[in-house]
Amino acid sequence: MTKRELLVLRVVEYISQQGRVSRTQIAHSLRLSKATVTQITRQLIDHGIASEVAEPAADVSDRTTSGRPAVPIEINPETGLLIGIDLSGSRILGVVLNMALDAHARVEFDYPLLMRSVPPLDVVISAVDGIMTTLGPRGSQVRGIGISARALNYAVGETSPLSLMDPLLNDQLTHTLQSHYGIPVAVVHNMQALLVSEMMNRPSPDLSVLIHVGSGIGGAVWLDHKPLEGAHMAAGEWGHITVDPDGPSCACGKRGCLEALYAIPQLVERIHALDESLSAWSDIVQHPDRAAVQNVVREFAQVAAQVLANVVLVLDPEEIIVHGQICDVAEVFVPEFRRRLQQYLIPRIRSTLRIVTSTAGADAAARGAASWLIGAALAEIVGASPTSATAPL
Ligand SMILES: [Zn+2]
Repeated sequence: MTKRELLVLRVVEYISQQGRVSRTQIAHSLRLSKATVTQITRQLIDHGIASEVAEPAADVSDRTTSGRPAVPIEINPETGLLIGIDLSGSRILGVVLNMALDAHARVEFDYPLLMRSVPPLDVVISAVDGIMTTLGPRGSQVRGIGISARALNYAVGETSPLSLMDPLLNDQLTHTLQSHYGIPVAVVHNMQALLVSEMMNRPSPDLSVLIHVGSGIGGAVWLDHKPLEGAHMAAGEWGHITVDPDGPSCACGKRGCLEALYAIPQLVERIHALDESLSAWSDIVQHPDRAAVQNVVREFAQVAAQVLANVVLVLDPEEIIVHGQICDVAEVFVPEFRRRLQQYLIPRIRSTLRIVTSTAGADAAARGAASWLIGAALAEIVGASPTSATAPL
C-alpha cells in the first residue's frame, strides 16, 4: 500500500463517518494540508466516488479563506464494492464494503474438512466465488479483493488457517484471481490489515506499534502513516521473540517464543491449572479478580513489557496499541504492562509513551484488507492500469 493510497482511504473513511463535511474540516481533523485534501477530494469527485453537496455547511465559521461558505462533500456509497477476506481466524471471514467503507455484507465459511488435501489457491477461489454468489448481480460492482493472511502456516490439525505470505503462492494467487475476476487483488499480512482498520478511526500518529494477543501473538508497525511491510512481509513479529530458549515448541518451528508461552490458549491452560473452576476464556473474563487470573495475566504483562520495551527502545514510537482477546482483561493486563514498561524504559521515553487499547473489532483484518485496495480501485474505475496490485509484494 502506498502512502498516497492510504491518504485517499483515510479521507474516504472520514467523510463517510461525518456524512457531509467540508475540505477545511477534513484537513483540520486528519492533520493534512488543505492542498492535499483539495487534490484528493478532486480525484474522488472526478471518479464519482464523492460529490459536492448543494447547500452550504451548517457551521458558518467553516468558510474558505475568501469568506465563501465551504461546500460540503459526501461519499456516493453505491459507486462500487470492495471484498475483504480474512484467512487468519478459525473460519474464513468475508466482508463486502461499499465505497463509504460501510459493510454491505458479511459471510463466514468453514475451511474444507480435509484442508491438507486442498490446494490453498482453491480454498481462496471458492471463498471469493461464494461471496460473489451472495452478491448476485451486484458482483459486477466489485472493484477489488483484499486478502488478509497470517505470515506463518499453522499446520496444526486438518482445518488450519492458511498462510499466503509465501512469495510464490502469493504471486500465483494474485495473478489467478486478477485474471479470473479482472480486478485488483492484494494479499496483506493480517496484522498490517488490522492496523489499517485501527488507524481509520483517529488521527494517524507518525510512529506507533501494535501488539495483538489472541489465538497467537502478533504485531505491526505504523511508520510514516502506513504499515511497515518489511523485507519479508514480517515486520512486527514480536510474538516470535524468544523469551525462554528451553521453552515449549512454537508453530514457527522454534522453541520458547512469546506466543508459544502466552497466547490466549496457553493463558487459559495456566489459569485452569491454578483454578479448576475456570476452563475457558469466556469464564476467565467473567472473573478478572480471581487470584489465578491476576497471577497469570500479570506474569504475561511483565514478559510482554520486557519484549515491547526492547521494541520501543529500537523504534521510539508514540504509542503501543493493545489488541485482541487480552483486552477482555484489560483492567488486569494494562496497569501491570504499563508499570513494567516504566521500569524497563529510559526516562525520556517513559514519561510520554501512550498505551491504548484498540477500538478495531473482530472483523478489522477483513475490513483492512478490503480497504487496502481503494487506491488501486480508484485507478481501475478510471480505466488506468492498477499500480499497487501489480507491484511485487
Ligand atoms: Zn515462534
